[in-house]
Amino acid sequence: MKAEIMAVGTELLLGDIINTNAQFLSKELAAMGIDVYYQSVVGDNPDRLYKALEQAFERADMVITTGGLGPTKDDLTKETGAKFFGRKMVLNEKAMEELKSYFDGLGRQMTKNNEKQAYLPEGAIAIPNNNGTAPGCIIENNGKRLVMLPGPPFEMEPMFKDFVAQYLMAESDHKYISRSIRIIGVGESKAEEVISDLIESQSNPTIAPYAKNSEMLFRITASAHDEKEAEKIMQPVIDELYRRFGTSIYGEGETSLEEVIIRLLNEKGLKLAVAESCTGGMVTSKLIDCAGASAVLLEGVVTYANESKIKRLSVKAETLEKYGAVSHETAREMAEGVCVSSGADIGISTTGIAGPGGGTDEKPVGLVYIGLCIKGKVSSYEFQFKGSRQRIRTRTAVNALDILRRGIINE
Ligand code: ATP
Ligand code: MG
Repeated sequence: MKAEIMAVGTELLLGDIINTNAQFLSKELAAMGIDVYYQSVVGDNPDRLYKALEQAFERADMVITTGGLGPTKDDLTKETGAKFFGRKMVLNEKAMEELKSYFDGLGRQMTKNNEKQAYLPEGAIAIPNNNGTAPGCIIENNGKRLVMLPGPPFEMEPMFKDFVAQYLMAESDHKYISRSIRIIGVGESKAEEVISDLIESQSNPTIAPYAKNSEMLFRITASAHDEKEAEKIMQPVIDELYRRFGTSIYGEGETSLEEVIIRLLNEKGLKLAVAESCTGGMVTSKLIDCAGASAVLLEGVVTYANESKIKRLSVKAETLEKYGAVSHETAREMAEGVCVSSGADIGISTTGIAGPGGGTDEKPVGLVYIGLCIKGKVSSYEFQFKGSRQRIRTRTAVNALDILRRGIINE
């Protein structure tokens, strides 16, 4: 089946909001093995929307729209979809009841314009909305399908997952089931090279690589009758990935590097402290993003100036003078110092030249050192990153977390 995604909303065309709905739907459809060849954005204008639907249905079996289902006058997607397939708008009793109970639940009076949302194209399948007022709907017409979902992601995403996905799945005799493997510390091109033979020979399961912020994700998708069969199809490929990437695989599915670290620290009963210079708190902040960080994280300090490194972390003045703040030696003393002052078992530190200024021939922008101290054993790592100040800082934070993860595993 060929599907097309159409985001409706003038706000998108003006650049006021980002089209994250298209990203979400494309990902979900890809995982289900449904081809998406085109995405489009069209303003809140019925004539242009109508023309866009004409064009889209020339090349696709299914069009999924998001946006323009609300109660206001400029919300015209359903009306335009109905007109496109020659349907009238009719009151859907069930949708009206749900709308009423939604407002009752909020203890609010339903206004007249909200009733508009209970009108759906004649013969359409209603999609309940548990997080808002506008129900979605599906028009089926001679092998073509128009799926219309609301704009707000927190309404649209559950409606797709809980309803549309089941609806699409119900009619195919096989399902698409995916697992994702998360890899860190291996560059994108290197990672793809390592599995190029697997990608070339793939059919079922398929392997799709995605790269993001120094991380790689491989999504393995099997087409099967049920989960059990899918697992059987996927397992040999997953085993092979573990053989090839080893500890560079930090997790599977919806997890994050920091979540894995917090879990490992908990399991091993270790306490952590962080000393940051160029990352300015990013490492600590990422760790604190995870619930449960308080059980293992003692403190994070940002020591930006040399004096602060001396005062808070007991970095030696001679070290700073002789080797500079951005050096193996300083990174090591920072990691050690934060362990000593906090009483933690593990200390991790960052120091680097994030740019854009401040680089020299000897120490260019992007030069970064990460220090690690585990129960008194100290090590340090050098990196040379490229890109903007923000990118260098982000990559430093991610790599510090990975060094930390590997250190804990080996402990
Ligand atoms: P509402 O009932 O809130 O009016 P709606 O279905 O009419 O919902 P829109 O009015 O088009 O949807 O958009 C409402 C909000 O949803 C936007 O202000 C924006 O925050 C979010 N939104 C809309 N389209 C997208 C999109 N493609 N990607 C991400 N967010 C979106
Ligand atoms: Mg609206």
